Amino acid sequence: MRMDVLTLFPEMFDGVFHSSILGKAQEKGIVSLNAVNFRDYSGNKHGTVDDTPYGGGGGMVLKPEPIFRAVEDLLSKSNERTGEQFETTADDSISAVATTESQRPPRVILMCPQGEPFSQRKAEELAGEDHLIFVCGHYEGYDERIREHLVTDELSIGDYVLTGGELPAMVMIDSITRLLPGVLGNEMSAVTDSFSTGLLEYPHYTRPAEFRGWKVPDILLSGHHANVADWRRKEALRRTWQRRPDLLETLDLSPQEIKWLEEFRNETK
Ligand code: SAM
Repeated sequence: MRMDVLTLFPEMFDGVFHSSILGKAQEKGIVSLNAVNFRDYSGNKHGTVDDTPYGGGGGMVLKPEPIFRAVEDLLSKSNERTGEQFETTADDSISAVATTESQRPPRVILMCPQGEPFSQRKAEELAGEDHLIFVCGHYEGYDERIREHLVTDELSIGDYVLTGGELPAMVMIDSITRLLPGVLGNEMSAVTDSFSTGLLEYPHYTRPAEFRGWKVPDILLSGHHANVADWRRKEALRRTWQRRPDLLETLDLSPQEIKWLEEFRNETK
């Protein structure tokens, strides 16, 4: 998988792309991460990428030309690599002119506080793609034509405003990368993570079995795998019920899980 980030601050990605899980995933050849300075596509000798808003008002607005040119350049390089043809069309975003079944056209994702909230589900969906291009804004915002005619998705990491799209892009790239097969040492760890199962994750314990008088639950020391699995499911359900009951509204609960919920409610009466 390939992920490119268009940014005015590519140096911000140096540490993140080459450390920990992201660094290892690149070394293993599972993912290729690349930060591109779209100022290089300004087309003017001063490297200007922003301008004042039509209609007046404060703040600077990112111009369309540098970001369109940068995305189109990435697409043509992608075509060269794969032998396939992706192009931006007059009416909308990016289309595959001649694709094979194996290669989908890249998703162009705008970092935007007004976008769809990013979630584990979205990370899972994006982890199934071949090529993602993240566009990081700065200043007041983007020229609206970028939103209307270039991007395929607009994503937000929460209801607050950051200075730029770099931190949101890092958050998304990290959560997508750890879902790619072969990236995590233990394949199960992404499967049982909070949200992947629809629930928050169950509590973890490690040695010592007793610390300052606080004991690890006996069942975890029993070696009985089915009982441990049941305990974990029950405690994941309890934690979700206590902290994020909204997540339970869309889950299909088993009769046993409905009983456990009843038990939790009775315990607090
Ligand atoms: N004026 C814009 C608004 O009110 O929607 C906010 C612009 S913000 C200062 C600059 C850039 O940071 C945005 O274009 C976006 O790329 C990024 N950004 C800020 N907060 C974000 C969030 N919660 N999620 C994703 N991107 C964000």
